[in-house]
Amino acid sequence: MIVGPGREGAAFTDGGDGDVGKDLEARRAVSSSLGISPEWATVRQVHGSRVFEANSPGALGEGDALWTTEPGLPLAILTADCLGVVLHARGAVGVAHAGWRGAAAGVVAALRGAMTAGGASPHRASIGPGIRACCFEVGDEVAGIFPGRVAATSWGTTSVDLVAAVRDQLDDVKVWSVGRCTFHDDGMFSHRRERTESRMAAIGWLP
Ligand SMILES: [Zn+2]
Repeated sequence: MIVGPGREGAAFTDGGDGDVGKDLEARRAVSSSLGISPEWATVRQVHGSRVFEANSPGALGEGDALWTTEPGLPLAILTADCLGVVLHARGAVGVAHAGWRGAAAGVVAALRGAMTAGGASPHRASIGPGIRACCFEVGDEVAGIFPGRVAATSWGTTSVDLVAAVRDQLDDVKVWSVGRCTFHDDGMFSHRRERTESRMAAIGWLP
């Protein structure tokens, strides 16, 4: 598990924490070590940009971001290559699920906009592990969606820098990034590398 900086509530699980998507014991163990409730609020992720406001635990519906002003209510996004992003504001927290489709749809900007409209403008972001530019090989059709964020894999083919694409949606928000690549770093779940059904979590909460 990787815990975000400072006193703000952000944590990212890794493979060593188990499949927190389906294994409720693993979810309970993670929650216990963070000192948070094991009852998380989630969404049914569809690689889009719909944002929900959460007031209680459980799955809210089809969407890829959620936020809350409820202290102690954990919000979670499940990932295995996509980026989990936690946005911190005074009195609110939000999480977003950003793979290339979500980033292209502007899910992080949508979350930021929803929180700002709700009176809680994010001032800080934490970005979890994901498939990074070193390994995120893409075809021309995906590269074409991210002009200026095209990069190269470590083996020299075209890739996209999703972390940079997410930062583009955060303007002056201060960003902290875990900086680990799910595809080539040990101890991570990677859907692209192993077709895994297991998931890691990006968890945000108001302490
Ligand atoms: Zn990599």
